[in-house]
Amino acid sequence: MGEAYKKIYKEIRDADALLIGASNGLSISEGYNIFADDRWFRENFRDFRARYGIRSVLQGLFFQYPSEETRWAFFSRLISRKCYLEQPGSVMKDLYRLVGQKDYFVVTSNGEDHFVPAGFSRDKIFEMEGRLTQSRCRNGCEGVLYENRDEVLKMAGAERDGVVPAELIPRCPKCGSPVTVNMADSNAFFQTEQFQRKMADYQNFIKQYHGKKLVILEFGVGWRNRMIKEPFMRLAASEPEAVYITFNKGEIYIPDEIRGRSIGVDGDIAAALEEILKTGEVL
Ligand SMILES: [Zn+2]
Repeated sequence: MGEAYKKIYKEIRDADALLIGASNGLSISEGYNIFADDRWFRENFRDFRARYGIRSVLQGLFFQYPSEETRWAFFSRLISRKCYLEQPGSVMKDLYRLVGQKDYFVVTSNGEDHFVPAGFSRDKIFEMEGRLTQSRCRNGCEGVLYENRDEVLKMAGAERDGVVPAELIPRCPKCGSPVTVNMADSNAFFQTEQFQRKMADYQNFIKQYHGKKLVILEFGVGWRNRMIKEPFMRLAASEPEAVYITFNKGEIYIPDEIRGRSIGVDGDIAAALEEILKTGEVL
């Protein structure tokens, strides 16, 4: 892999800009697997597992809880621990170091909001499926979208035995309806002004670097992914100066038409990023 790492480092160094795509595989390389009944899940949600039969974060996110108080117990514990209390790990820090001073844009389906704590700019990230750190009115009030840090930490601190006190349950400041975290759980998510604006920012970034040396970096995106991978592969094919670099564990797919301008790294993403940065130090 040594030669590939060297090549990747040079491509990034010579790039005009970086387009970064990230999905579950990147989270997994950080130890957060929303599909798994793994050690982290059992350590943090043993009680929810026993009481409701919930076997993963993903199930917990979409579970029909008996009340708002129990629903927010799960959400506030997850969000406080995963998004607010946990410090960015080496994977995210390495990724940020690799970007350096380059202009970039991030598109991700990961909702744990780990890019900003690692140094990335909020303006340059498009969470295509939302993020856990933002809430919106469940009744669809236009423009009611806000950072949920304070109320989540308060709820998590006051939670007892899988229940949050009723008086802490967040309500829409406009209509008083329950709120929900801003995830892609209904059409309302895609209709928010924020989603539309982020989509426009993404398109503008691509336009801005049309014809330039754009390095497209993909981390842990499955081969059938239509939100991130498919548009990335199309973009790479239509931009003759673009380079397409895909990192994934056990699943690398590069179409023939862009093979000559692509690099695939099959293996642990954390280790690969570390090696690429080391390569850069000795070049
Ligand atoms: Zn409302």
